[in-house]
Amino acid sequence: MIPGPVKVPQRVLRAMAKPMISHRSADFEKIYEDCRSRLKDLFDTENEVVVLSGSGTAGMEAAVGGIIGEGEKVVTVTNGKFGERFTELGDRYGSIVPLDFPWGTPFDLARIEAALEDGAKAITMVHNETSVGIVNPAREVGKLARKYDAVFIVDGISSVGGNEFLTDEWGIDIAITGSQKCLAVPPGLAMVAVSKRAMDLLEEGKGGYYTDLKAHLKKASKNQTPYTPAVSLFFALQEALKMAAEEGFPERRARMAALAGGVRAAASALDIQLFPQVNEHTTYSNTVTAMKMPSGISDSQLRGGMRKRGVVVSGGQEGLKGKIFRIGTMGACTEADVLRTIQTLELVLEKEGVISSLGAGVEAASKAIEA
Ligand code: PLP
Repeated sequence: MIPGPVKVPQRVLRAMAKPMISHRSADFEKIYEDCRSRLKDLFDTENEVVVLSGSGTAGMEAAVGGIIGEGEKVVTVTNGKFGERFTELGDRYGSIVPLDFPWGTPFDLARIEAALEDGAKAITMVHNETSVGIVNPAREVGKLARKYDAVFIVDGISSVGGNEFLTDEWGIDIAITGSQKCLAVPPGLAMVAVSKRAMDLLEEGKGGYYTDLKAHLKKASKNQTPYTPAVSLFFALQEALKMAAEEGFPERRARMAALAGGVRAAASALDIQLFPQVNEHTTYSNTVTAMKMPSGISDSQLRGGMRKRGVVVSGGQEGLKGKIFRIGTMGACTEADVLRTIQTLELVLEKEGVISSLGAGVEAASKAIEA
């Protein structure tokens, strides 16, 4: 029940076991073409989508490295670990203007506007900040990016396919997602949607060699990749996209929303506080719920106790180690998965004397999910 990599459905695992094919064959081209077309629907975009063999960070690097050159400014808006990754990345390529908000707190749009007023080639943000379970306001930041003519780069790695993610409507120039999150494919693929405006700014030989977006886009126009791709993962991606389409993209997002609503309801019934602070532009995530560690129990007691009973949840990262725990509800997650998780959490809390009776969390979660 961690926020990625998530459980991979049998159908997807079986697809990966197909015999190997040449990545220069017509068979591969057909698969890549189908994946790219389905990914456009998933990203809600008319932009071109390329698939890089590499984890989500490869997509982040391709975006920043392709756009930002030496001396060029990129505003990196952060309120968690992955926002900060853009800062670290940007530092390798250009001149970063980090706009840091405390982890799990909403962005201040006025501060973002002030930073853009000073001129920047690009602005980066994370839509669903997995480290703190918050959904940041891409629509509002997108408006500012357009107003100040900055290339808008959004990490949708734990969001696309789980939360609403409107690439074109929000004016996102480069959107990124990863295979191991809402699509429930094993880790190892980064999907990147690139606008015409961003494409025109990409220069030959800029940024990373392997992550050169221009090279990936050029080859993608023939449904090929510049280098040998992770072919088996492409089999898996195609199958996962078919499964997502069968369920329906809106229905799939609604399922994850209901499950996360169940986790939040259970937290409230068990007197566990949610970690992120939300406001009118910022919401709780439907793909990962971050909760404060209840008093009277340690991280190792809570997560260790759950793990011993067969349920793995995530802890906090960096400064939040021991202070929060996180439950993922992405991919193929079911109501039964969530109820079992909450039941196990309750058992551990009762054993450690944090709660005195069992059932309140499971009841609240099931009612919320069924509502
Ligand atoms: N961005 C977000 C929001 C993430 O959740 C993650 C991974 O958890 C990453 C970036 C990094 O992706 P990867 O580990 O696939 O490189």
